[in-house]
This record gives sequence, structure tokens and C-alpha cells, in this order.
Amino acid sequence: MNTLGLYIHIPFCASKCSYCDFYSFAANDNQIEEYKKALIKTISDWSQNCKNHIVDTIYFGGGTPSLIGGERLAEIINNIYDKFNISSDAEITVECNPDSINENLLLNLKKVNVNRLSIGVQAMQDDILKSLSRRHTANEAKNAVNLAKKHGFKNVSLDLMYALPNQSIDMVLDSLNQMLELEPTHLSCYALKVEEGTPLAEKNPLLPDEDTSVDMYNAICQKLKKHGFEHYEVSNWAKKGYYSRHNSHYWDLSEYLGIGCSAHSLFNGQRFAYSANINDFISGVKPELEEEVEGFSQSDEFIMLSLRTAKGIIPCEYEQKFNKSFKPIEKNLRKYITNGLVENKNGSWNLTETGFLVSNAILSDVLSSI
Ligand code: SF4
Repeated sequence: MNTLGLYIHIPFCASKCSYCDFYSFAANDNQIEEYKKALIKTISDWSQNCKNHIVDTIYFGGGTPSLIGGERLAEIINNIYDKFNISSDAEITVECNPDSINENLLLNLKKVNVNRLSIGVQAMQDDILKSLSRRHTANEAKNAVNLAKKHGFKNVSLDLMYALPNQSIDMVLDSLNQMLELEPTHLSCYALKVEEGTPLAEKNPLLPDEDTSVDMYNAICQKLKKHGFEHYEVSNWAKKGYYSRHNSHYWDLSEYLGIGCSAHSLFNGQRFAYSANINDFISGVKPELEEEVEGFSQSDEFIMLSLRTAKGIIPCEYEQKFNKSFKPIEKNLRKYITNGLVENKNGSWNLTETGFLVSNAILSDVLSSI
């Protein structure tokens, strides 16, 4: 049986963060109910095509999945259990925001074997959180994580943002230190990207310059290494054994099925996506096939995604998967070894931590010359 990662998209948020350009919005109870019913129906429809698959990861992303409450999430998960083959050690993740974590949510998630929470903490200074229009304070974030721990959630991932307006390196490290005190198993750390059309972009905020942003990234790398985290992907760190298995489906180009508005899939060799319109999804509009980007093949995508991971690329895996020689890529990667940006160890080619910092430049060079 092929393994499959199942992604369920929940597009609701209690309010918008000032930097967010995702398709998410506040909804009333009726809309949430209608959407839940459409999800359950679509899950059932898709299960017919997945009889030969075993689901090894389920991921609820958004938006704010925790916002729809534990009962609804449990109902959706129970429907997945009823319809799909689920592996006994499946990783089941729910993205949560601190302000919608409560006892009822956690009890319901526990009952249906959710075993991983990904919590959007972002920063630990109230004024920074406020400037991003986040709905929680640092203390509320701590209480939410501690409550999850108290209810037996051992595998907790926290999100941190850096390169924020008015943020110093000391503030990034202060956030990180406070997060580490909460003993997460996993951290995702992203530099802010100011997206056009967002309230934050309209304010034209003063951002840390590029050197400071690089220093912030290096400080995060050093701190997390000291605390025993493995830097296993450009923006992701985990304790041993706690890599995100769901995200590995994306990075390995293995099969994943996304259900819900704006959810993307790679299934049966095809890429397709539901429209970013909740009414389309509720009324049963089918996902559309995604066009291949001209001049960008699946093997290019594999190189790009693999080189963003510490595992890197194993030449024979690439050659078997795409029936292409790895030699031209090897030639391009080799030139970055001398300045410490690329390594070739244990039969694999990967970017070093310094290489991660300039991954976009290396990738565009490697891809443009093959
Ligand atoms: S919680 Fe996440 S998805 Fe919702 S508005 Fe904020 S950043 Fe966007």
C-alpha cells in the first residue's frame, strides 16, 4: 500500500493578523457547520479512491483549526477513521492559536488520538504581538502550551517569527528562551515577509536590515543547536525523532491529499487544488488540475525541496525516481563545497546551515545550469 498524507484545511480565523495574506476569515456558527458538513462529504467521496493507500499523517491547517472547537474536529477525524485506512502510528497534527486552546478542545482531541499540536506563538513580547494583531499575550501563549502539556500532549511544535518591525536580536532570543522553557519538541522559525495589500504593508513598517535578519537567523541556529535541536529543514528544527512527518510528504514529493478550500494535492501523479472560495467548496466544486510551470519539471522541484532539508539528495534516489543522471547537478553543487555552503557526506548532497541562509541563490544557480 502507498502511504498518504491527508491535509484538511480550515479557513476560519477569529480576526486577521496584520501581516497575513492567507485565505482566512471570521465566520459564524452556521457557516462553520456548513463547511464541516462539506468536509465530511468530501472526505467520504475521496476515500473511494484511496482504498490502496494507508494514511500515515493527518494535518489540520488553516486559518485556525482550533477555532472550530474540539467536538467538530473530533467528528471530522472520526469520519476519516471510518473511511480511510489509518496507520496505527499515524501522526495527527492540529494547528492551534493560543486563544482558542482550552480544556474542552484538548479533551476532544485526545479522544481521537491527535498526537501533535502546532501552536502559533510567534513572539513573547506583548507589544510585538499587539503590533501584529495577534489575539494573545505572551502569558496566554505560555498558559495554552502548559495546558496542552497537562493534558498529555508531548509533541508540541511552536512557531516563531523574526525580522519583525522594531524587533532586535535580543528580543528574538528572549522569545526563543521563553519558548524553550515550555519544552517544545519542534520549532518552526520564519522571517516576516511583508505581503502587499496587508494592513502591515500599508503602514510601511521599519524592518530590521538584511544583515540584522541574517544575524537573527544565526542566533536562532546557535541557540537551538545548544538546546539539542536538529536543524532538519531551512525553517524547521526538532528534537530527535520529532521531525514533522506530514511535511516530509511535501518535501519528498510523496503523495498527499488536501481537502478543503484552497487545499493542494499531489495524488496519483497529478497536482490539483480546490479554489480559494468557501462557497465553491460547500457547493461541491471539484478541484482543478494545476498547470506545470514552464521550464520547471518535477525533478527540479525535487532538487529544490530536497536541498532545503538536512537530509539533502541521495543521487541514486534521484536517478531512480526520475531516470536522469545526477552528474550535472553534482558538478554544480561541488563548487560550493570549498566555501562551506554544500557538503557531500554519507552518500548524500546537502546544504550546510550557512548554505541554508543563501539557499535561494544556490538553488537558482544549480537549477539554471542543468
Ligand atoms: S492566525 Fe494565521 S491564518 Fe489566521 S490571520 Fe493570523 S496568520 Fe493568518
